[in-house]
Amino acid sequence: MTALSSLTLAALRDGLRARQFSAVEVAKAHLDTMQRHQGLNAFITETPELALEQARISDSKIARAEAGPIEGVPVAVKDLFCTKGVLTTAASHILDKFTPPYESAVTARCWQAGGVMLGKTNLDEFAMGSANTSSYYGPVKNPWKPKNGKDAVPGGSSGGSAAAVAACLAPVALGTDTGGSIRQPASFCGIVGIKPTYGRCSRYGIVAFASSLDQAGPMTRTVRDAAIMLKVMCGRDARDSTSAPHPVPDFEALLTGNVKGRRIGVPKEYRPDGLNAEIAALWDKGIALLKDAGAEIVDISVPHTHYALATYYIIAPAECSSNLARYDGVRFGLRVQEEGDSLLDMYEKTRAAGFGAEVKRRIMIGTYVLSAGYYDAYYKKAQAVRWLIAEDFRKAFTQVDAILTPTAPSAAFAIGEKEQDPVTMYLNDVFTVPCSLAGLPGISIPAGLNKDGLPLGLQVIGKPFDEDTVFNVAEALEQGLNFKSLG
Ligand code: GLN
Repeated sequence: MTALSSLTLAALRDGLRARQFSAVEVAKAHLDTMQRHQGLNAFITETPELALEQARISDSKIARAEAGPIEGVPVAVKDLFCTKGVLTTAASHILDKFTPPYESAVTARCWQAGGVMLGKTNLDEFAMGSANTSSYYGPVKNPWKPKNGKDAVPGGSSGGSAAAVAACLAPVALGTDTGGSIRQPASFCGIVGIKPTYGRCSRYGIVAFASSLDQAGPMTRTVRDAAIMLKVMCGRDARDSTSAPHPVPDFEALLTGNVKGRRIGVPKEYRPDGLNAEIAALWDKGIALLKDAGAEIVDISVPHTHYALATYYIIAPAECSSNLARYDGVRFGLRVQEEGDSLLDMYEKTRAAGFGAEVKRRIMIGTYVLSAGYYDAYYKKAQAVRWLIAEDFRKAFTQVDAILTPTAPSAAFAIGEKEQDPVTMYLNDVFTVPCSLAGLPGISIPAGLNKDGLPLGLQVIGKPFDEDTVFNVAEALEQGLNFKSLG
């Protein structure tokens, strides 16, 4: 790996402004690294010409002292964000050849701020999954190699983004998180990933999965980089009625790592019997670090946590079944139609050929829980439980400023290991979905390695719109844990 591609976003930004290297050199270094790591399958589409063109523009802006906040910094984009004129697939066959005529709000903000697009990263089909194994474009490999030598999954659904950042193909990648898709792959790949408060980022132009849960966020190698990038991504957008009018603070300026006197909650429900011992030990280490740094540790209870996974796997499929109804062969991508087929035949053949098994499963679950006979029993009940889960957090946050938990119940597993049983796959999300259902900000930071040499992450959950506290707790942990990234 070349030295430039191992620099953090902050170091690249500062070095570019100080004219220590050019944006073109930075782009080339990352494009080279991408070439050398083709085997990871982290990208679905690479955009080298665009990257070099944007980098040249950045160099001239820097020369004119007109640099934006991330001028000349390479950015990898999860292939769920619509990018004008650049193939956007959601890792699905059904979006074959779909080239959006518009740009998503979040990516537009990145280019406005000076970001340089490297390409579109691989993901689980329509962001449904926890292993990046449901992509039509094939699985992504985790850049961390376990001692047994078997290729591990990078987590999902933002697996390509996580792998790209971990292997230094990009200093930052955009992810989306519906029930953990930024945090869990960040944990599996030993990087930082934050899902901000629901509403912080505009969802305009992000291929919808479950609209009441979907949020964009950055994936980086340091907490500081995530703070810089989140500021770029957030802000009110009139095109998304759920985007929040709240002012966006300068998260980097507020980043001190000072947690003196802050109250950190440790929820007992996140320590079930049989919790992996290495994860429990790292969690305890994190607790001890925060205590040493002057935080007060408070035992708390969020009693409805137990129902979160079941609730999520009713609400998310319900919303997905509705959102994915638009893919009918008429407006986007793939169309399968034979001589003499009726319109209905065309719909059916297109959807049968275009969607993969997991997406079909979710559409069927969603359609079932929304059907007249089962709506009250499942969907309505799940909405009620969702409210109870949010209430648990609201009450907890009267006692504490932030909550510390593990990010995922295991480290990365081998590719192919959990695909046979969807419920086993869903269990990956047990620690990330409660925060999503409550719309709260959550970050995952790398905490250490397990005995097989694979990363494990810790999660910090915060109050709504209190990302600066989340970042500060994460920064304190990062300083204490001293995790060594690849590269
Ligand atoms: N793994 C979860 C799921 O499969 C979360 C996905 C996501 O956050 N996009 O639904």
